[in-house]
Amino acid sequence: MTAKKNKSKSKKKVGKGSRTCRRCGTHQAIIRRYGLNMCRRCFRETAEKLGFKKYS
Ligand SMILES: [Zn+2]
Repeated sequence: MTAKKNKSKSKKKVGKGSRTCRRCGTHQAIIRRYGLNMCRRCFRETAEKLGFKKYS
């Protein structure tokens, strides 16, 4: 799935409250650990691909 993000050049939205999942855009349960910046749901999906496998 290639989500063409055409929101100008908004790549500097990190920090200061605007933490949203970079994958699905939600702002719930965002995991910033490891610089993931994605919600835990996306993290789980991504983690499997990355080989994390362990989310506790
Ligand atoms: Zn997400």
